[in-house]
Amino acid sequence: MSERHHGHGHDHHHHDNHFTDMEARVKALETVLTEKGLIDPAAIDAIVETYETKVGPRNGARVVAKAWGDPQFAEWLKRDATAAIASLGFTGRQGEHMRAVFNTPDTHNLVVCTLCSCYPWAVLGLPPVWYKAPPYRSRAVIDPRGVLAEFGLELSAAKKIRVWDSTAELRYLVVPERPDRTEGFSEEQLAELVTRDSMIGTGLALSPEAAR
Ligand code: FE
Repeated sequence: MSERHHGHGHDHHHHDNHFTDMEARVKALETVLTEKGLIDPAAIDAIVETYETKVGPRNGARVVAKAWGDPQFAEWLKRDATAAIASLGFTGRQGEHMRAVFNTPDTHNLVVCTLCSCYPWAVLGLPPVWYKAPPYRSRAVIDPRGVLAEFGLELSAAKKIRVWDSTAELRYLVVPERPDRTEGFSEEQLAELVTRDSMIGTGLALSPEAAR
């Protein structure tokens, strides 16, 4: 796992500084607009919340739903996730590669960035606060089963957990298992069952009953 991060320290710095720059600019803009009475900070928070939990992850949900319904697309996603995902119009910055890891009856996949907060923006939008927090970043590797239990996900002891450490160059999308009793569902209906957390690995896809 750690060798994936080698050679990534330098670039990483760039990516973090860049992000901090951007945050500073956004903050400055927000302050000016608020002082001029043009925006309401609470409305901004609501918009960010929407991007974190709704708009961003809908892209990933479409990828997963298509993979569930279209075996050829699933094969392509396994082989070359960057290209398969780009075919749906979701592309990251140049040089950012995607890998899709598929949950199976034997194996559950969990994604973390131990060094900072690398996250597949193009398909999941903004990372949740806990993803960037040190406790998740360290404990996801040391005690993945314990972390999943805290997310309310109790996996059988027989199920293996694979933890994938993201970098600035390579980011992971978990393809959760398709829920039972979804035969005949359209891609749109399937996408409704795909939560953000199920694509990070801290959750499962919803059952059709739970999604109602
Ligand atoms: Fe990172």
